Parts: sequence; C-alpha cells; structure tokens
Amino acid sequence: MPTAVLLEELADAAARLEHASPKQVVAWAADRFGDGLVATVSFEDAALAHLVAANAPAAEIAFLDTQYHFAETWWLVDKLRERFGDAFRLAVLRPDASVRPDDRWLTDTEGCCAVRKVEPLRRAIAGRSAWITGIRRVDGPTRADAPVLQWDERWGVVKINPIVAWDDDDLAGYLLAHDLPRHPLADRGYPSIGCWPCTRPVAEGEDKRAGRWAGSAKTECGLHG
Ligand code: SF4
Repeated sequence: MPTAVLLEELADAAARLEHASPKQVVAWAADRFGDGLVATVSFEDAALAHLVAANAPAAEIAFLDTQYHFAETWWLVDKLRERFGDAFRLAVLRPDASVRPDDRWLTDTEGCCAVRKVEPLRRAIAGRSAWITGIRRVDGPTRADAPVLQWDERWGVVKINPIVAWDDDDLAGYLLAHDLPRHPLADRGYPSIGCWPCTRPVAEGEDKRAGRWAGSAKTECGLHG
C-alpha cells in the first residue's frame, strides 16, 4: 500500500510533469527511483528505449519475448543493441520454460497473453518501485485519459508514462532528431505492433490499435488493464 505521503508526492509530481518533455519525465524518474526503475519496451519504435537508455542509465529495459514477435521487431532490437552497446541495459524476459510455441492464440488470447506477457511482466516488476511504459493517449479510446504518472494499484508500483502526450508527429520528430531507425513495419500500415498472430495493418482512419486482436473484443494484452 502506498503511504499518504507518497500519494501526495505523486500528485504534485504529476501536476508539475503534465506539460514536461518526455526527457524531463524520465530524468525525474531516474533521479527519484534510480535502479528501482524498470521500463517495459515493445520495440514497435525506438523512441522509448532511447529515452530511457539516454536519461535513466540505471534503469533496466525489459522486453517481453512472447515467442511470437515479428522478425522486423527483433531487427530493431538488434540495431539498438549494436548502437548502444553496454549502455543498453536490456533484459529479455521469456515465458516460463513450460510454455512452448503453440496455437493457443487461435482460441484463447486471454490465456495466451497471461502466460506470455502478464506473468513475465510480473517478474520484470518484482522488487521495483517504478515502471516506465510507452503508452500514449493517441493509441485509442482505452488510453485517452492516461496520466503521465500514477500509483498503479494492481502492480504495486509507480507507473510512469513519459510519452503519453505525444502524437505521431512528436514520435517521428524524435526518431529523426536522434537518427533512430524506424520499425520496418511502421511504413507498411502497422501503427501498433505486437505479436504477429494478433497484429494486422490498419486502414486509413482506423484507430492505431484496430489491428490488434482484430475481429475480437480484446483491446489490451493485460499489462495495462
Ligand atoms: S498478443 Fe496474441 S500471440 Fe501474443 S501473447 Fe497475446 S494472444 Fe498470444
């Protein structure tokens, strides 16, 4: 349970950081939480990994390897590994050894996400005090009201969303300004990229995440709600 003092501190910080740059938010998190900080990065783009590696050097960058990532996603991971070397504190978290590649995603996406994403996230967060994510308000209606930071009751950590206010132009501008590689699928109609069985390109005018679990009511993998 968070103390009343912590909740007050977070409310103050959230008000101050609402209009701060992502770099300022990550720097605040690094200063406040040090190596108690973990960032989960999906590598649908390179921006969050770069922001964390450059501004929160003690933070771990966790990538949840579901066994179903696109080859293009691994290409981006490797590009960033090459570029940042030891400064890139990447931890690849895999599902429990008993979980093998299977067809569960065909009939039970909730169960599949539970063992391939939610359980590894639990391990990534264990013992940490704060968690950086890459969610953005423009991702879709379920994220439209996401705050820049908050106490996350479910996971028992401070949840920090440094790029929450970014639109697509902000993101593209950051990649350009820092000479970061783009995910190869981003220019092929994939504005949101997860596992290949559950991601399709979207049509003009569709929500960014319309291609995730398309044709079902599922909109989130269980990490954020
Ligand atoms: S997104 Fe699809 S393939 Fe990936 S863990 Fe969830 S159900 Fe399984």
